[in-house]
Amino acid sequence: MNNKIEGRVISARTSFYDVDIGASVLRCQLRGVVKKKLRSEIGKQIYSDPISVGDKVLVTPIDNEEGSIEDLLPRDNKLSRRDPNRHREIEQIIVSNVDQAIIVGSIHSPDLNCRFIDRFLILAAAGNINAVICINKADLLNEYEQSKFYKTFQVYEDLGYQLILTSIHYQETIDQFRSILKGKLSVIVGTSGVGKSSLLNAIQPNLGLRTHEVSSKTKKGRHTTTLVELFDLEIGGKVADTPGVREVGLWGVNPDHIDHYFPEMESRISACKFSDCSHLREPNCAIIEAVKQGEIAAFRYESYLALLGENN
Ligand code: GDP
Ligand code: ZN
Repeated sequence: MNNKIEGRVISARTSFYDVDIGASVLRCQLRGVVKKKLRSEIGKQIYSDPISVGDKVLVTPIDNEEGSIEDLLPRDNKLSRRDPNRHREIEQIIVSNVDQAIIVGSIHSPDLNCRFIDRFLILAAAGNINAVICINKADLLNEYEQSKFYKTFQVYEDLGYQLILTSIHYQETIDQFRSILKGKLSVIVGTSGVGKSSLLNAIQPNLGLRTHEVSSKTKKGRHTTTLVELFDLEIGGKVADTPGVREVGLWGVNPDHIDHYFPEMESRISACKFSDCSHLREPNCAIIEAVKQGEIAAFRYESYLALLGENN
């Protein structure tokens, strides 16, 4: 057992993991002792799967195709959500050890969903991950709506988030998207249909294979149930593509402190009359006042209210 090799998990399907060890990819299982160790380390908290895509692990090869995971190396960060498939509160790690999360939305079809963006901004912040907002289908932005959209974008930019506007029909925006991904490990999230696969395809043909359901490439049927998969970029860097992330239950966020994850609220909380103000209908609430004054965007406050309702 002294020939352990370091590798990175590139796809995970509870109990089977593809681990990139540089020269090849090994199909691995998690050793029982490791599973037990991870469980005892986390105490009561239970993961859907203790190992996630992006994890750095030590493996022992069994042959050229298979191996076993002997240990999990410490994570730099992780993007987690509440497992949508369980009744109990269980953490599902979407991906770990990433440099940035690219949150993709679209102008139309589907319409821009700021609540989804706001949720992911919180999950990224909770996981200590830098977030970039990418609004796709810019070609569908008509003159009449432009000022409305630009106002929304400005809100995010004023809060300090990087926001890019892309279209698969505008090459210069694809170049910008590519330069953001270059050399980094990025996780791409967004609801179905916003154009994640199309954007990936535009920067590297066949990268967004998933939408086209090309599963023949995979002897092992890897496009079936996996939540996330990690791809190498020719320009350098890696992309974790997440087709299955639609529901975004918060994880790692204290439900009483959701306001702390909205920078425009966080900076005003101390001005509320009550120290435990929920900014719902309390008197002398600095947040409600700021919304009235137009200093906090109404749509952001609505995102906050929606999250508050769900988590309390
Ligand atoms: P995904 O589910 O996020 O991976 O979305 P897809 O990449 O499958 O794209 C969904 C649909 O949107 C497809 O019909 C694409 O052709 C279309 N689409 C993607 N990007 C753009 C864009 O920039 N502009 C327009 N007009 N359509 C786009
Ligand atoms: Zn308040």
